[in-house]
Order: sequence, then C-alpha cells, then structure tokens
Amino acid sequence: MPPETYKFCPRCAAPLLPAVLGGRTRGHCPRCGFVHWSECTIGAGGVLIRDGRVLLVRRAIEPGKGRWTIPGGFAEENEKAEEAAVREVREETGLVTEAVSLLAVRDRPGDRALKHDVYLVFLLAYTSGALHPQAEEVSAAGFFLPEELAEMNAAPLSLAVTRLALTAADRPAPGFKPASGINLFSAAARLYC
Ligand SMILES: [Zn+2]
Repeated sequence: MPPETYKFCPRCAAPLLPAVLGGRTRGHCPRCGFVHWSECTIGAGGVLIRDGRVLLVRRAIEPGKGRWTIPGGFAEENEKAEEAAVREVREETGLVTEAVSLLAVRDRPGDRALKHDVYLVFLLAYTSGALHPQAEEVSAAGFFLPEELAEMNAAPLSLAVTRLALTAADRPAPGFKPASGINLFSAAARLYC
C-alpha cells in the first residue's frame, strides 16, 4: 500500500485490509467494499494579459508566502477547472473574467508527503470589475511587463505560462499561414493552412 494511506474506512470506519486491485496493493474495506484507489488534487490558475502585461498576485499565506504568482487555487469537487480559475481570479483580485483556452497543464505525481497534483492553467479574457486584492490571501496585485517579472520573486510556473501567453498568439510556424473563415473552439486556438 502507499505509505500515506487510510488505516480505517472513511465511509464506515472498519479497519482497511490490503487487497491487490488493478495490479497494486490498496486499502480495501471488508465491510462496505470501499477501495482507496488514489489521492489527488486538481488546481486551476488563470493568465490575464492586458496591454502586454500579466496579472499577478503576491501571496500573503503559505505555501509560497511573498511570492508572485498567477491567481489560482484548488477546484471544488463539483466545479470545473475553468470555473475554478475564473472564481479564484475574482476572489483574489476582484476582476471578472472568462476562460478562453486551456494554456498549460502541470502534472505532478505524488510521493510520500504529497498527493498527485494536476494544475490546469487557462488563458482568460477580461469581462468587468476593478482591481481589489483580497487581503487574507493576497498582499498585492497588479499587471506587470515580462521584463519586470524577471526582477520579481515570481513562481517558475507563472513565469512559464506568462511567456507562453505572450508569445504564442498569432505566430504561425514557418511555412504556414492562418486559415480564415473557419470557427475555432477558443480564442487561443489557431488553424493553419
Ligand atoms: Zn467501509
């Protein structure tokens, strides 16, 4: 069994027993049939670009207190990842946005201490609202140029997705030109001919 696992059934509280299921030894409840398949978390963040500047927040709490990141957080069980990104941006900055495209995925398998963590980053479009950083989680918020980011204590993933958002748009690969007259599924998608 994984080192960090349940000893008792989270449904009926009976002691879990090891059972080989799906090629691995997992906790199995002999009373109600519960199987402890895995532990994972899904997070979502949003990249909002305005006039060539990216929206960043400075974290007021651990982990990463004092670090500048794109706004984001965990998705609830009944919430789509893109909805979580939009919600977190609204809660942390006061800005209302909508997701226009999936921009990046970070897939970090778990180990003894951490759950498997999947983080989805969405490119956002501004809808309404003014910048009002939320005091509990965020100590500052603003829009920054890429060259300013290099001097800030910015998280590596935030730097990477910012570069992606600023450079990916409207740059077809050599030898290709954008197709026209065809509907695309998102504002960030491109179709070449
Ligand atoms: Zn049980």
